[in-house]
Amino acid sequence: MFDKISELTKVRSVLELEGEICSKDGSINRVREQVYRLQKYEYMDIWKEDCNCVEGMMRSKLNKSGVPRIHKKYVKDWAI
Ligand SMILES: [Zn+2]
Repeated sequence: MFDKISELTKVRSVLELEGEICSKDGSINRVREQVYRLQKYEYMDIWKEDCNCVEGMMRSKLNKSGVPRIHKKYVKDWAI
């Protein structure tokens, strides 16, 4: 349980400091799950966009032509 809370806290602070987080971020377990929690329990507005970061590409599976699949990043909505 402690683990989950700290992962959630990491995702929250990255979103608050940088405005976005890559779904393939290597320092956080199950980014998607943390984002889901933030949306559901903390009512954070977060949307998904295609991400082009190199680290994420290296972590992505390759498609049939050997090109990394497109992965996503999560972006915090600042508009109120
Ligand atoms: Zn990325």
